Amino acid sequence: MASISLKNIIKRYGVGKTAVPVIHGVNAEIRDGEFIVIVGPSGCGKSTLLRMVAGLEEITGGELTIGSRVVNNLEPAKRDIAMVFQNYALYPHMSVFDNMAYGLKIAKVAPEEIRARVDKAAKILELSHLLERKPRQLSGGQRQRVAMGRAIVRQPQVFLFDEPLSNLDAKLRVQTRLEIQKLHRELGITSLFVTHDQVEAMTLAQRIIVMNAGNMEQFGTPEEVYHRPASTFVASFIGSPPMNLLQHAPGCQPGQLLGIRPEHLDIGDSGWQVQVDTVEMLGAERLIYGRLGDETIVVRIDEGAQPPQPGQTLQVTPRAGRTHAFDADTGKRIG
Ligand code: ADP
Repeated sequence: MASISLKNIIKRYGVGKTAVPVIHGVNAEIRDGEFIVIVGPSGCGKSTLLRMVAGLEEITGGELTIGSRVVNNLEPAKRDIAMVFQNYALYPHMSVFDNMAYGLKIAKVAPEEIRARVDKAAKILELSHLLERKPRQLSGGQRQRVAMGRAIVRQPQVFLFDEPLSNLDAKLRVQTRLEIQKLHRELGITSLFVTHDQVEAMTLAQRIIVMNAGNMEQFGTPEEVYHRPASTFVASFIGSPPMNLLQHAPGCQPGQLLGIRPEHLDIGDSGWQVQVDTVEMLGAERLIYGRLGDETIVVRIDEGAQPPQPGQTLQVTPRAGRTHAFDADTGKRIG
């Protein structure tokens, strides 16, 4: 296991006048054994960052340390990392056992040691009864577990996950997410996990790196990014539906945006006047879409609460201590 230190990490694709800057100087200190999720919209540089840690992309500037070694110029095989991809690419003609053992055979690990490591990984992943099967005889979730097994048997210092769940259907995604959590609890290996899915980020991470257009917008616990978003970008990206960002709400200062999450607006006998447009039933909750003056606002209520009718006027109050202020120009959090 190892800590990972990113010091002013920069990436440009290409050289000279045609060079494309992609990562603009990322700083992060990741502790030994931490589970970190890198989240952000498509094209923000998540994979590039992960691939630089893996050694699959050259680092243009800055310093990357894994454990006690600066690894900028160290080839991937020497970095003591294992990567799990979205496309898990198992060898179709090999058994589950051989798929998991392959890397160790190549590394000339002794057969009895290989047997012991594969058996242990198979036990953790509940694959012991499937070791003789071929990949085509497995479900999608089981294949993804074999891919994780292949990474585990190498006993790396660091796990890197590149959107490993995005090819799975919704139910299997949740299940595999729980398995990854369990795996991390048992093995405690420092992990970097890339996703564009904020729910995956919130549920898996001990700390989250939120990326936006090649910049790190925030690095914090799920509680911090949810309760104290550093910018309007984070406020809109984390949480669904996103935080309301209002320019003209009562009490909003000029040059600022007032942020309030849909779940932190309470309906009562006084407060802001909201004209109801539509109401969505989502099972455990309902979302009320309405207008506050000329701005759109979303209010979340419990499924059991009496739903308002379109056209009705509601009075809502932001819950004490739950409002956020942002600079209207820079989007940065104030206070
Ligand atoms: P993400 O993983 O967040 O979707 P990527 O790290 O794949 O984003 O890409 C970040 C940016 O870098 C994108 O704008 C992408 O077009 C650009 N990019 C990725 N690979 C290359 C490349 N080989 N050459 C030039 N630009 C690239």
